[in-house]
Amino acid sequence: MDNYSMFLPSYTIGPGAYETVKEICPRYGKTAVVIGGHRAMNAAREALDAAVRPDIKILDYIWFGGECSYGNVNTIAADKTIAKADMIFAVGGGKAVDTAKCVGEITGKPVFSFPTIASNCSCCTSVSIMYTSEGVFVEPHFFEKPPVHAFINTKIISESPVKYMWAGMGDTYAKFYEARISSRGDTLEHFTALGVEMSGMCAAPIFMYGQKALEDNRRHENSYELQQVVLAITVSTAMVSIFVTRDHTPDYNSGLAHAVFYALTAFPLLEENHLHGEVVALGVLILLIADKQYEEFERVYNFNRVTGLPISIFDVEITEEQLKSVLPRMTTLSDVRHYPYEVTVPMLEEAFSYLEEYNKKRRE
Ligand SMILES: [Zn+2]
Repeated sequence: MDNYSMFLPSYTIGPGAYETVKEICPRYGKTAVVIGGHRAMNAAREALDAAVRPDIKILDYIWFGGECSYGNVNTIAADKTIAKADMIFAVGGGKAVDTAKCVGEITGKPVFSFPTIASNCSCCTSVSIMYTSEGVFVEPHFFEKPPVHAFINTKIISESPVKYMWAGMGDTYAKFYEARISSRGDTLEHFTALGVEMSGMCAAPIFMYGQKALEDNRRHENSYELQQVVLAITVSTAMVSIFVTRDHTPDYNSGLAHAVFYALTAFPLLEENHLHGEVVALGVLILLIADKQYEEFERVYNFNRVTGLPISIFDVEITEEQLKSVLPRMTTLSDVRHYPYEVTVPMLEEAFSYLEEYNKKRRE
């Protein structure tokens, strides 16, 4: 047998998560530079400045540049203040944190993450999603390790715009269905099997606590339910992602729900008006119908309905003609390349019409 290593997320979660910065970070140095989004740095600055004093000096707050692109990463990595800092503090949502992780890799400095919204698992995972400076997807960029530690401040997250956690829930429960289905029938390595088993924690807490968590987010209330959903979106999803992408092939990290999303991005309105996880939540309904999991379909359908996640292509402003034109593309995307059965155009046609028929029945 060959050797292999696993580097797993380490995190603190709670309204006082930043209080543990003083216990964890001084082992790595005395100075830090913050890389983040404008709104995120505003939201975190007061609590962060108070938390680091007097042990750590924050040398500067640097804007991440708006996109996680190799260009922005190289520009920031060349910044003189970064050269002087012992650590990098990544503050924000996915793109800002992803950018800071890349800067950490280039400069060899330890990265600590401070998510200010709960929309994805960037704060705990060992991959950055790279885009061009215009925001066009390029590739996932994998690291050996995730950030040294994530400080997940649920007070700050409870005060963030609701739409991020709302859409993040869709992307998170998708992980459970996609990992399960994509790996079905395969003999799995220990780490892959762990990841697939853990993916249950990406779905159950969302269905149990999601609705209440959204209400609490709306009221800016840091509740138990909100914290469970934040854990599912950030920590559980990151764990699954790290385990199931360990050998990069085959890809258990995605599936038909994501193929639905990527094929529909052919229409610019989709990404202008809708969030990734929101559209993926619609994709999960199609995935479940195509997989003939009708009971599970009803469960997700009811959840989407009460939380306002999409239950129809019309909810994401796609017409029947538009949908028809991208169905062939849906069957060829890498997300469904490794799947227990061939995803075909007739299968998708049937699934989408089942969904609209079901909508009609429910409206009657
Ligand atoms: Zn996704």
